[in-house]
Amino acid sequence: MPHQSDQRHAAEWRQLLLSHSLAVRQQVSALAAAQCDALASHFYEQMMRDRAASVFLSHEQVHSRLHASMQAWLVAVFAQQPDDDLMPLVAQQKKIGEVHARIDVPMHLVLRGARTLKEKMHVLLQDDAVCQAADRPGALQLVARVLDLAMEVMSQAYSSSRERNSRAQEAYRLFAVAQNVSTERERRRAALLDWENQLMFDHAVGLQSGQLPRLGASEFGLWFRHKGTHVFQGAAETEAILGAIQHIDEAVLPAFALPGGEAERIARLRDLRESCKRIAFQLNTLFEQNTELESGRDVLTRLLNRKFLPVVLGKEVNYARTSGVSLSVLAIDIDHFKQINDTYGHAAGDSVLQHLAGLLTHHTRGGDYLFRLGGEEFLLLLVDTPLAGAQRAAQKLCRQVAAEVFSLPNEQTLHVTVSIGVAAFNGHPDYQHLLNRADAALYQAKHAGRNSVMVAAD
Ligand code: GH3
Ligand code: MG
Ligand code: MG
Repeated sequence: MPHQSDQRHAAEWRQLLLSHSLAVRQQVSALAAAQCDALASHFYEQMMRDRAASVFLSHEQVHSRLHASMQAWLVAVFAQQPDDDLMPLVAQQKKIGEVHARIDVPMHLVLRGARTLKEKMHVLLQDDAVCQAADRPGALQLVARVLDLAMEVMSQAYSSSRERNSRAQEAYRLFAVAQNVSTERERRRAALLDWENQLMFDHAVGLQSGQLPRLGASEFGLWFRHKGTHVFQGAAETEAILGAIQHIDEAVLPAFALPGGEAERIARLRDLRESCKRIAFQLNTLFEQNTELESGRDVLTRLLNRKFLPVVLGKEVNYARTSGVSLSVLAIDIDHFKQINDTYGHAAGDSVLQHLAGLLTHHTRGGDYLFRLGGEEFLLLLVDTPLAGAQRAAQKLCRQVAAEVFSLPNEQTLHVTVSIGVAAFNGHPDYQHLLNRADAALYQAKHAGRNSVMVAAD
């Protein structure tokens, strides 16, 4: 979905191009097309001199891919004309910014790379055979402005991607200390009970209805109205609790002042008791749901959900890269899952997912990470595991799943198979690269007839 700022960037890019003559634009784009190879080499040589930059560039695959993609990028950014659709160009710059964020390239290195290219292009433009003297000032300016704008779009995507990632990291931290959620729950439940006890006591010793403590003003009520509603925003239970607090304070407590005999008094107390119990129950539900969400566990299977994939993979790939320890991933997908849903119903499908999640958890080591990526797709990250080990693990899992008897809610049973794509970390700093290779292998496993394991090409 195009963002508003993408449209603004595309419009600015168009304005920029329109402010230069066709002749200037053509000379600059001809230069980029003719010299892209030399420019890419120049860029690479310059950046390799920087120790910080060379960490990201020294991998063989980065080198060959970067060289090709740098050339294509140079041609593309300088070939644009004002009549072209510039949105794909903006999207391309954003994507590059996101990749940089993912592999943790500091932005200043990217800017330095751009400066290197700008200087080299400025030198090349001094040649009369490349650019006519009269057009030179315009051409120099066009090169600088195009590169600057491309960097601006890239860095915007870079920082918002970093920001998202740090929010996910924060959530991951919460997940790591998730026990605190249960302490919090106990404290709030105790506060609600305290209020109820106090009320019963005050009522028993004969305080008038108007003097009875109001739930909304109690420790529990204050916490819930100010913080609870914020934490549990949007949940139906939140509204229900607010409604119950209001019901107690505005209807149940004032009713104690009404005339009536023992039977009425007991009925009112019972009403109060029931209302409090409902609040406690709903609060419990809220905390439970919130634990799942905040802790990043998938609600159905209790596995890690995809939101933590960037945090965990980024961390582990970085660790593998700097420590030299091996790392592998298994992309696991249930075979013909749609048929299971179609034949036995969605609830049966859900129970198969839960059962499989349990089986996968049971058969993996404590240091490994198991994600539900969505639907019937899982990802298993095997730490400290080289390719051969990962392949063995995948084959074993594949056999174990096929041998397992899955029982359905209606007492029926069935057999399920999975296909698995295996990929080992090969030094490429972008974890997305590792995932793509595992996905490609999974795709091959499906084509090979399913219930099988395939290993990714390096
Ligand atoms: P293949 O062997 O090629 O993987 O075929 P498939 O049927 O497993 O794959 P496909 O992607 O065609 O279908 C996946 C199905 O999973 C479709 C979707 O309705 C179902 N699904 C996704 N999420 C859930 C879920 O949470 N619960 C249930 N019961 N079904 C789900
Ligand atoms: Mg499937
Ligand atoms: Mg699938």
